[in-house]
Amino acid sequence: MQEAGRTIAQAADEDALFHALINTAIDGIVVINEQGIVQVFSPACERLFGYAPEEVLDCNINMLMPEPYRSQHDAYLARYLETQIPHIIGIGREVVGQRRDGTTFPMYLSVGEGMLKGSRIFVGIINDMSETRARDNRIRELQGELLHVTRMTLMGEMASALAHELNQPLTALLNYTGAARHMTGHLGEPAAKLAEVLDRIAEQAERAGLIIRRLRNFIEKRESIRAPEDINKAVEEAVELGLAGMRGGDIKRRLGLEPGLPALLIDKVQIQQILVNLIRNAVEATSGLPRGAVTITTHKNGDAVEIAVADTGTGIPAEVESRLFHPFVTTKAHGMGMGLSICRKIAEAHGGRLWLAANSEEGATFILRLPVPAPEPAP
Ligand code: ADP
Repeated sequence: MQEAGRTIAQAADEDALFHALINTAIDGIVVINEQGIVQVFSPACERLFGYAPEEVLDCNINMLMPEPYRSQHDAYLARYLETQIPHIIGIGREVVGQRRDGTTFPMYLSVGEGMLKGSRIFVGIINDMSETRARDNRIRELQGELLHVTRMTLMGEMASALAHELNQPLTALLNYTGAARHMTGHLGEPAAKLAEVLDRIAEQAERAGLIIRRLRNFIEKRESIRAPEDINKAVEEAVELGLAGMRGGDIKRRLGLEPGLPALLIDKVQIQQILVNLIRNAVEATSGLPRGAVTITTHKNGDAVEIAVADTGTGIPAEVESRLFHPFVTTKAHGMGMGLSICRKIAEAHGGRLWLAANSEEGATFILRLPVPAPEPAP
């Protein structure tokens, strides 16, 4: 006997195959009609959503979605039937599902369209993304922790230099306060003179405050945030931090910042972490040498801004150079060797690069290249 080109035996086989497929598929399978009414709800869906099939079959699929999607779905389906312009059908994307107990979970939904006995049906394949998302979050958290720990280590190494840096304005404050107190004892002194001394006090207090604020900002535990930033300003601040405590030392600093650079979309603290690292390495390689200098320049090169940190130090030893960006590579007694490996990862996460551009016995130059964001398309 023939039925639409198939024997009954073939049709029965196909029916069994269809059920086996639905029952054994690891991903959830759900079939709806044109009105969004559920026709098939696979066992994997039962496990995912916590509903028994009879609670979902013949009901609107929107019961498996949280608001606002739940209220929008009927209109969305109707619009698709009218316009045939798909947003998800034939494609697939990550959406949010709602379980019977009201909790929600991320899921990847691919939707196909077909005809069954003259009626249109939509077949959804649902892949639970909760584990993947949880894993991504854990990795992001760990990366954040690592960046934080390395920043803390960097600051730990710089603690004595920074204490020295803070000591200067604090000592100045004490001196000025002493002078002011002395003046109040001589009331014949013109008030303008006293005001001038008070201004100095305020200036120094502000300077100390600024150093502390930058430090706190740098070591604070924080979420990664990218915002349009003036890169020259970020570089200047990083130089202040990186060279802290060197004032009066015999290492010269040279800054060559190209004016008018476009704003970059960066996590400022992370980029400053790279720069502070490069600058500290440069300072360490240079210290003790005659005519030591660290030069930091910025300039636009094509569709990116390049920041170069060059020193006149010892250069990088040959045995280190090939593994320079690997973790735990260090020649320092108390070095962790994590600095450059993390710096490169931060640069790459920003769509940029970090490399050793020059290396000799006369010193080393590192370049950090960060892309200029594409202009927003006109509305
Ligand atoms: P750490 O500073 O903890 O050693 P890094 O990853 O920052 O870790 O640096 C790895 C090694 O690379 C340093 O120990 C040093 O030998 C070498 N290095 C990095 N920058 C320079 C530089 N500017 N001049 C000379 N050697 C450098």
